[in-house]
Amino acid sequence: MRIGHGYDVHRLTEGRRLILGGVDIPWEKGLLGHSDADVLTHAVMDALLGAAGLGDIGRHFPDTDPAYAGANSLKLLEYVVKLLGERGFSVGNVDATVLAQRPKLAPHIPQMRDNLARTMDVDPSQVNIKATTEEGLGFTGSGEGMAAHAVALIEEM
Ligand code: MG
Repeated sequence: MRIGHGYDVHRLTEGRRLILGGVDIPWEKGLLGHSDADVLTHAVMDALLGAAGLGDIGRHFPDTDPAYAGANSLKLLEYVVKLLGERGFSVGNVDATVLAQRPKLAPHIPQMRDNLARTMDVDPSQVNIKATTEEGLGFTGSGEGMAAHAVALIEEM
């Protein structure tokens, strides 16, 4: 068994969609980024890559590459899981936390979990998603951005 950690941050801005765990959440702002800026899925990918000793998403999907402009992060996650599979690893479990002041994410968490589980080809029971505010403190508290942490356990098949 191997373990990995992922962390990501994106800025909130007007005129962008808010996509978290592949769920398009109606909100006055969205996350800014080269891809769809799905901060949760990015943290999960970095945790998986980290567990496998494969670097980070910046190495696999450079934000200077036009191929990833507006990319659906679930597609990138699918690729990461394929990479792990080629190296003999399967996903054990993933636990992630989204840090966001607003909007309320709880109603969307079951769908995020299902999306991530389906994309990683695991049972939803192997995926846990949490959301928390940071009590109005810092950049997530002020609504400047959102952050996500993830840990992943992978197993040699
Ligand atoms: Mg990112």
